[in-house]
Amino acid sequence: MGRLVVVSNRVGPLKDTGRAGGLAVALVDALTKTGGIWFGWSGNVSEEGSFGQLQRQKTKSVQMVQIDMTKADYDAFYAGYANRTLWPVLHYRLDLADFDRRFEQGYRYVNERFATRLRPLVEPDDVIWVHDYHFLTMAASLRSMDVRNPLAFFLHIPFPAPEILAALPNAASIVRAMMAYDLLGFQSERDADNFRRFAIEEIGATDIGDGKVRFGNHETIARAYPIGIDAEAFAKFAMSPDARRHMTRLDKLMGGRQQIIGVDRIDYSKGLPERFRAYERLLEDYPENRGRLSLMQIAPPSRAELNAYIEIRRELDEMTGHVNGRFADLDWTPIRFLTKSFPRRALAGIYRVSRIGLVTPLRDGMNLVAKEYIAAQRAEDPGVLVLSRFAGAAEGMKEAVIVNPHSAEEVAAGIQSAITMPLDERRDRWQSMFERLCRDDAIAWSNAIMKDVMAVHR
Ligand code: UDP
Repeated sequence: MGRLVVVSNRVGPLKDTGRAGGLAVALVDALTKTGGIWFGWSGNVSEEGSFGQLQRQKTKSVQMVQIDMTKADYDAFYAGYANRTLWPVLHYRLDLADFDRRFEQGYRYVNERFATRLRPLVEPDDVIWVHDYHFLTMAASLRSMDVRNPLAFFLHIPFPAPEILAALPNAASIVRAMMAYDLLGFQSERDADNFRRFAIEEIGATDIGDGKVRFGNHETIARAYPIGIDAEAFAKFAMSPDARRHMTRLDKLMGGRQQIIGVDRIDYSKGLPERFRAYERLLEDYPENRGRLSLMQIAPPSRAELNAYIEIRRELDEMTGHVNGRFADLDWTPIRFLTKSFPRRALAGIYRVSRIGLVTPLRDGMNLVAKEYIAAQRAEDPGVLVLSRFAGAAEGMKEAVIVNPHSAEEVAAGIQSAITMPLDERRDRWQSMFERLCRDDAIAWSNAIMKDVMAVHR
């Protein structure tokens, strides 16, 4: 294999600053092995937009190349189609989706423009690996520019059931464009299966077995490649001085009580209001937890300019006030709701002192917090993960307490079973999950995709 060319909406960082997610770590590893380019949007809006100069930055064998967007591109492609159309539809939220023909036009245009700027940088032996829902149609653009290289794609968010996707105007046309990739990677078997079903039922592709579909005379692998984390590195984070500082502060605050931890961007896919309701239900149904078990929710705001996000923030503020008003005591606050972000080293320490990791999205591609929570636990006295069946992570973490996030009653019962779980059982469950996390790490993930795209392209 030649060099690797990675395309993603945002580029970098190349160094693990402790804030970089598993993705950046895996990609930087893959990129430094083969050398290559990481191409994407600079995050800036300018008058020249994608016609402006390439912004290049080189570290050893890896070159980061970024371009701007115009305000019009940003509005239609990014704020429009990516965030207001694809994000809700792919998370099964048709009720929140905006369908506007100009968004779709802008989206296709930016995919085409980015392909045009990438084209001259590509060498014959390169493998091109495109990331996420911003660039579903880029392969079709590249192929029309006579790019013959292996083309892989990975979708970091869910791919919905065909019945849901069919509501997206021109969904069939978008999926036809996706078939120009040689490999389409998904977070879970369910997502890969949804894609193949749509391709077969709606655009007439043929299932040729082994996770492959044929469309015209082109074969595409459409399989699950669940993304991993660098579990051993994260476990070390949990013992770093930064983690310890946070653990000490929390230990003091908790005064022997136990803590549930939730860490999610404020987003309607994360099921936060449902989670707060479930916690209230826990205090109603299992009153022995009053004064003993608190919920800390870390929730950095995201896309705060969109209405759906403003509303959810208001709802969470109100619910925090309501539950605390109802149950708080002189020396106990039931919910602590923190709308700021923490570096991952600090999170590692916070996970480690928390007896329960509560991860209850209504839909999530994978959910890395679930994996990080497990990686950060103490082998001798691990906490318990309570995990939504609708997170991609649930497919590979069967030893978690799996719950339906829509049912306050079921989540409350799940938390209760976690809090009363005997040490032996906690250890057994944790051990299995931790070993699997170390084996199926971020590097194994990118290796598997690279190996398969080379094979199918041949
Ligand atoms: N994260 C962080 N600081 C925070 C909250 C989250 O560094 O204050 C990180 C977290 O450690 C994880 C990522 O952000 O690596 C969130 O990934 P996940 O898959 O859980 O959710 P996403 O935000 O991608 O939907």
